[in-house]
Amino acid sequence: MRYSAFKVIWNGLGGNRGWKPVWRNPQPRSRYDVIIIGGGGHGLATAYYLAKKYGVTNVAVLERGYLGGGNVGRNTTVVRANYMLDGNSQFYSHSLKLWETLAQELNYNVMLSQRGCLMLAHSDGQMDAMARRGNMIHMQGDDAELWEAATVRRHLPYLDFDNARFPIRGGLMQWRAGTARHDAVAWGFARGADRLGVDLIQNCAVTGFHIRNGRVLGVETTRGTIAADKVGMTVAGRSSEVGQMAGLRLPIESHVLQAFVTEGLKPLIDTVVSFGMGHFYISQSDKGGLVYGGDLDGYNSYAQRGNLPMVEHVAEAGMALMPMLGKARMLRSWGGIMDMTMDGSPIIDKTPIEGLYFNGGWCYGGFKAVPGSGDVFAHLIATGRSHEVAEKYRIDRFQTGDLIDEEGTGATPNLH
Ligand SMILES: Cc1cc2nc3c(=O)[nH]c(=O)nc-3n(C[C@H](O)[C@H](O)[C@H](O)COP(=O)(O)OP(=O)(O)OC[C@H]3O[C@@H](n4cnc5c(N)ncnc54)[C@H](O)[C@@H]3O)c2cc1C
Repeated sequence: MRYSAFKVIWNGLGGNRGWKPVWRNPQPRSRYDVIIIGGGGHGLATAYYLAKKYGVTNVAVLERGYLGGGNVGRNTTVVRANYMLDGNSQFYSHSLKLWETLAQELNYNVMLSQRGCLMLAHSDGQMDAMARRGNMIHMQGDDAELWEAATVRRHLPYLDFDNARFPIRGGLMQWRAGTARHDAVAWGFARGADRLGVDLIQNCAVTGFHIRNGRVLGVETTRGTIAADKVGMTVAGRSSEVGQMAGLRLPIESHVLQAFVTEGLKPLIDTVVSFGMGHFYISQSDKGGLVYGGDLDGYNSYAQRGNLPMVEHVAEAGMALMPMLGKARMLRSWGGIMDMTMDGSPIIDKTPIEGLYFNGGWCYGGFKAVPGSGDVFAHLIATGRSHEVAEKYRIDRFQTGDLIDEEGTGATPNLH
């Protein structure tokens, strides 16, 4: 069923009894051309683009839980393309362009809101670094504005400009950045893939791989053996675990990242504000809740909930930036398992096992990457060649030293 304003009105008048399930619930077949492991944003987008752009429709997405139950439904929804380094810059630019037409592409409202994202600077040195970053973003063809402190004050008067540790000297604004509705992105890609013939199989965990003579032949799952010519891994926080099943040792650690939402307030923050020095970022949801997050819990974990010391740390950073935050009541918090690489940038590449492809290591930035990642991963799987905007996301860069260390912090996952 194609969605339209007419359909909404028609079904509204008919007591909303005319809607149909958005995707099928098929039984797994014994063989597919391509299996995608993981029904998060990246897996669903990959399946969609495989079918849509390359006509590869004999595809299954195998999801151990329910679609969108992982990080794609747990993130703070920031979408932006203000990366600086060669590799990241082209990729995120490509992804943001796909975001801008995604609702029309999927015929599904992903609620992209280009309300802007401001990265704050707290010293003259940081302002210089922002100016440099802004120039690089312009060279990539994207937008960025360097704001002095007075401009930031005019737009966001409630920030603590004269904080003793973090005085605000200015910032870098990208107006095309913003937020989107996380669930809608998963549901939109799932619906699109299903309509093109992809089987979305929920409650189907991959438990092992069939590999012979260095070639993948299929996977073992909780719902039986499934053969395939090609297998793509998009399991985010479970990357090392699933990689290990195929004998791969990946340069990835799993950590919990928490998010927080306050009670609904009147419109207050009309943009995304990123306070990198305190590792805190905030926006306001359409329902009025202030949505914010901060740093990773500092140790490796597969738990989907976080711990109190990090709650305190994030609250401290929030109060340093925006003291009035102390008056808002926090309603909800949750955690997601993050796949942190050692340079903070992702991997989209073939593996040493023929027919087995890897996509992961998204760190804090995997939501904004969803359409771009799906597009380029589908290209890799269908053609066997890296897409031009993802050529730098090679797995062997951790051996060759050709790292993409966007934050310049080295192998320190929590600082990426
Ligand atoms: C609190 C929080 C805030 C964030 N904020 C942002 C943000 O503002 N902007 C941004 O760009 N990014 C953000 N991120 C990061 C972003 O959400 C992730 O990088 C991205 O969602 C990961 O890709 P995914 O959607 O495919 O992952 P997931 O949704 O986690 O998908 C992976 C799927 O694989 C499945 N799986 C795992 N193992 C198996 C198996 N053995 N068999 C079958 N299936 C399996 C899982 O069940 C899961 O559904 C945030 C993350 C968190 C946790």
